[in-house]
Amino acid sequence: MEDEAGSDLLHIGRRERAILNFNLKKGMMTNAEQPGRAEWVPGPVLLLGAPGVGKGTQAQRLVTRFGVPQISTGDLLREHVRLATSLGVEAKRLMDAGKLVSDDVVNGMVAARLAQPDTAGGYILDGFPRTEAQSAWLDDELGRSNSEVPLVAVQILVPEAELLQRITGRRICKACQHIYNVFSHPARVEGLCDLDGSVLEQRSDDTEAAFYRRMAEYEAKTAAVIEHYRRQKRFAGVDGSGSMDDVQDCILRALHVFRDERRQKS
Ligand SMILES: [Zn+2]
Repeated sequence: MEDEAGSDLLHIGRRERAILNFNLKKGMMTNAEQPGRAEWVPGPVLLLGAPGVGKGTQAQRLVTRFGVPQISTGDLLREHVRLATSLGVEAKRLMDAGKLVSDDVVNGMVAARLAQPDTAGGYILDGFPRTEAQSAWLDDELGRSNSEVPLVAVQILVPEAELLQRITGRRICKACQHIYNVFSHPARVEGLCDLDGSVLEQRSDDTEAAFYRRMAEYEAKTAAVIEHYRRQKRFAGVDGSGSMDDVQDCILRALHVFRDERRQKS
């Protein structure tokens, strides 16, 4: 298994190094602009949030701010399949047979990615771990490596009524793709784009029924993972109902609390 992961590193090395250099440069710029933040790194972060809470935006902000990579198992899977690494070939064999990609394969891809040097200051995990077994595996993996700080899980929380409005109120201009919301950001003339007068549309899956279905799916999918980190007191829920800046501040505060507490204990 270790040999396999090692050979995969060689396959993805060149591209990863280019990303690393880019991130390092960005990280230094970020730190220089924010005196006093230079030594602080976010460490491993699992960002969770139901559809519509703005998880993607917040993840991107953390990436830009600290120059840490976002690690998505979806991206890793596509990359390994594209490069036909040993793990990629195995994943493709399973998918072609209509089977789920096994934990061994997914974990192998994550292990190879976490061994890259650009993860030293931390990273944002996206779509992993999904199960209790994967969470336990990741704890072992991080325990084995000399990771300085443990993974922290942060869930962005928006009251259900507000989330429902965010999604069912969403209208999109057919012509310019500008996004409106009938509750929080309505067009001046109902149903027409302010910018070009085109008709605004509602996406077919932005209905109330689809919203509740997606919420139930999300909760079922994340319950075990949240419970895992909650039990270990490495879980924080943050208020996602404010502005993008407010939410980012809440996330940073949550991370600081965990990291500072740990430092005081050790
Ligand atoms: Zn428009």
